[in-house]
Amino acid sequence: MSITTINAYAVTHQGGPAEPFSYQKALGSNDVLVRVTHCSIARGDVQFIDNDWGDTRFPLVPGHEIVGVVEETGSAVTGVMAGDRVGIGYQQGACFSCEFCKDGNEQLCPKQKVIGVDCYGGLADYIGVDSRFAFPLPSQLDSAKATPLLSAGLTVYSAIVRAELRNGSDAAVLGVGGLGSLAVQFLRAMGHSVSAFSHSPAKREMIERLGAEHIDSSDPAVATALKRRFDFILSTLNTKFDLNAYLGMLKPQGKLCVVAQPLEMLSISVGLLYDNALRSIFGNYVGSRGQMMAMLVFAAEHNVESLVDVVPFTDVNQAIEMVRRGQTPARVVLQR
Ligand SMILES: [Zn+2]
Repeated sequence: MSITTINAYAVTHQGGPAEPFSYQKALGSNDVLVRVTHCSIARGDVQFIDNDWGDTRFPLVPGHEIVGVVEETGSAVTGVMAGDRVGIGYQQGACFSCEFCKDGNEQLCPKQKVIGVDCYGGLADYIGVDSRFAFPLPSQLDSAKATPLLSAGLTVYSAIVRAELRNGSDAAVLGVGGLGSLAVQFLRAMGHSVSAFSHSPAKREMIERLGAEHIDSSDPAVATALKRRFDFILSTLNTKFDLNAYLGMLKPQGKLCVVAQPLEMLSISVGLLYDNALRSIFGNYVGSRGQMMAMLVFAAEHNVESLVDVVPFTDVNQAIEMVRRGQTPARVVLQR
């Protein structure tokens, strides 16, 4: 085991700035040391900085969508080699012996380690992680545009796979930010027809460019006009929305998946689930290692990539403010 000093940016208190911070990382036999070349600042990072969920541990080193190059490998590492370009997401560890890990659902492991709660993230020169959570990137993927795939991409891909849609399904995506824009692309590339709900007229052009139909979610006539229209609805909304209106837009046996959480409670009219409809609602949270590898291959084959604003690492605090104020429709990716 070797010990490495990592120079990072940390936030020491709720809502505070990112400041230089260093820590010692002990690398075990299964670990790799990765030189970080790209790290995104996602809405979720700002929510961690602002301690919106109440479980942030300070000092916090944010950053849970990371691309870098392997520099050192522990003695037991087999999957990656020094020099490999890898991606790292929100999860950095699992026990590999519980019932969920044995089923290949490491994201459900009760002993999992995730950035922001159990360990430090990618706003740093290096990151040391279990090599089983450092995924080689297919060569076709651009590092900056692929960075958001590591968490947002995995989350929506895994949600879509879990919905087990029939070929040529009618799908809808609620919210077309970092998660939603990738969801539209994955659904289109899988051969489904896609509608994207947004209250922002400015997003219409982007939505249509991605091959989806734009639907103005602020139009009160939409819920009636689209009754029983969709096989699948994926909600990426983190603000309060009318869950019942969208459940009503599902066909019988349709499924609604939520991958983000509004801070306020949503009410649900349970009759919409059983009354002559057999609809269901489920949640999704990142994805398994197997889904991560499949997602990266699929994204490379189908040119699924994120719209990104690339910013130098030294502008980290400006980048955080851009995201906090919602100043850019793109994902902000820091590049070294
Ligand atoms: Zn486990």
